Amino acid sequence: MTKRATIEELARWLAAQDDVALFGHVSPDGDAAGSCLGLWHALRALGKRAVVCLPEGVPKLYTWLPGADAVVPTGEPLPFEPKAALAVDVSEHARLGEAGMAAFERCPARAALDHHGTNEGFGQLTALDAGAAATGEMAVELIEAMGLTLDRAMAECLFVAISTDCGQFSYTNTRPQTMEAAAKCVAAGIDVEAVTARLYRTRSRGRTLLLGLVLAGLEVSADGRMAWARLSEAMLAQAGALPEDNEGIVNYLLEIEGVEFAVLANERGSQTKLSLRSRATMDVAATVAVPLGGGGHPCAAGVTLDLPMEEALAKALALARKALGAE
Ligand code: 5GP
Ligand code: MN
Repeated sequence: MTKRATIEELARWLAAQDDVALFGHVSPDGDAAGSCLGLWHALRALGKRAVVCLPEGVPKLYTWLPGADAVVPTGEPLPFEPKAALAVDVSEHARLGEAGMAAFERCPARAALDHHGTNEGFGQLTALDAGAAATGEMAVELIEAMGLTLDRAMAECLFVAISTDCGQFSYTNTRPQTMEAAAKCVAAGIDVEAVTARLYRTRSRGRTLLLGLVLAGLEVSADGRMAWARLSEAMLAQAGALPEDNEGIVNYLLEIEGVEFAVLANERGSQTKLSLRSRATMDVAATVAVPLGGGGHPCAAGVTLDLPMEEALAKALALARKALGAE
């Protein structure tokens, strides 16, 4: 059984560990990669050995983060045998991935730091703040609770974690503490213009072409409250894009005037990963993701189903229709 911990308790636990492995979730996003790396810099500043494990390594969008070149793709050999494991931004044990679950369980001491409301906790200790906009917001607190001041490398990683998970301080999850944590990152000397240009004002040609292909196939329900689209493996090949280039496309569907629920079906071999988004009027995690076996946040959730795209879409759309009272 996992014990619920405060940030201070987790800070005491982490400060007492050595040889720490930090684990992010499958399809790592800015929060997973940035929070893991921010904490990696902090542990090293405390004189500890640490390593970050991310499934399939660092996504291309984040390879410029300081420390990214030391990240080990989860499951590959580590530079040392970790004695402690911290799952970072991982909403459930299974989101560590197959290799991640095995590597995490091999560590004698295990804890989790997360902000997903659907997380039931795992490891021996779980610090969970469902009100935090990003795990990065909690990581700033954790680093301070360990007696450190943010340096520029930590701050750059954590600013990326925070700003990507709250839609550049625009989603409903943005709260005073989100801004305060980001302000500490800015105070540590990061170049906000350069960081945000890399994140939000630069995209590869493949990602741009993929956006066009996906949006060309967009569908909207008769009353205009639901929008959906498909991202097939053929489209990835045609655009010369990477699987991670799907990130952000679902928002274009949700941003259509009148749309309250949006879903992007991502083909992954014989499986389909659904990216689910909603406006504040609907809890998409509770009404669609969790009933299908997934999870996430009220306005951004996901699930992977052992179904082809059309069948997976049909399931999500039926649940959403019910939640919207649009049957
Ligand atoms: P995305 O659509 O960006 O991949 O995911 C949106 C949110 O849903 C993220 O916060 C992510 O952690 C969560 N999420 C995505 N897929 C799954 C899943 O299969 N299970 C759970 N529990 N959460 C997921
Ligand atoms: Mn997150």
